[in-house]
Amino acid sequence: MLQVRADYHTHTRFSPDSRCEPEALCRAAAEKGLREIAVTDHFEFFPPGKFADGHYGFETFAAQQAALARCREQFAGRLAVRSGIEVGQPQCDPEGAARLMEAFSFDYVIGSVHKMKGVDLGLIDYPDEKIPALVGENLEMLRVLAETGDFDCMGQIDIIKRYAAVKGKRVDLLDYQDALDPVLRALACRGKGLEINTSGLRQAARETLPAARLLRRFRELGGEILTIGSDAHRPEDVGAGFETALAEAKAAGFRYLALFAERKPSFYRIAE
Ligand SMILES: [Zn+2]
Repeated sequence: MLQVRADYHTHTRFSPDSRCEPEALCRAAAEKGLREIAVTDHFEFFPPGKFADGHYGFETFAAQQAALARCREQFAGRLAVRSGIEVGQPQCDPEGAARLMEAFSFDYVIGSVHKMKGVDLGLIDYPDEKIPALVGENLEMLRVLAETGDFDCMGQIDIIKRYAAVKGKRVDLLDYQDALDPVLRALACRGKGLEINTSGLRQAARETLPAARLLRRFRELGGEILTIGSDAHRPEDVGAGFETALAEAKAAGFRYLALFAERKPSFYRIAE
């Protein structure tokens, strides 16, 4: 049976918001029948002058890579362990982002937008009258990231849907297609992908980030690279919601999913 082989978005204790040991994550992945995992711990960038209290620095990734090397040995033959990172709004500090990428060799890099003007999207209120402006600002940041960022796949492109849903508001980026299309087109043109992030299924949005309708638009604009990730911050969420994600990918017309080693994609089939 064709199925999802890899979880391409996971966090460990090398992220500020997880206490999970990499080994526990890998064990969960192997037990769930996955063949590969990418550990993508957070690194957040801030605009000049914004305080980054509680966030980890470069030294964290030296420790993360050493821990992943041990997991790679321990799970050899059972589970491929890819060394990844999720960079948040790297365009806020292009020099810092370049230094980070030079300092480490990652297999896979997720580019995300978690913050606007240094404020987490989860901490913003979403009053009806402000939603169009907030979505516009968010899509503008995504466009700059898509056009200039050093990453492989864009993370949870419609994360704003997730946080608006917490406040009982529905946001669909396809309602802003004039601003969304340049993001998707830039990704496709630069050979970059999207991910389906299944954390939305476990949260108020109650659907994947993004769902099939946005993925279909990416496909129409030439997008070819797609990964699926749980965004697990604990072992029990590894691989969660992957059947739904697979159905969304197929419904959008994707026939392959991507895997990455040393930042180079390879593909495996998910549809006949
Ligand atoms: Zn994440």
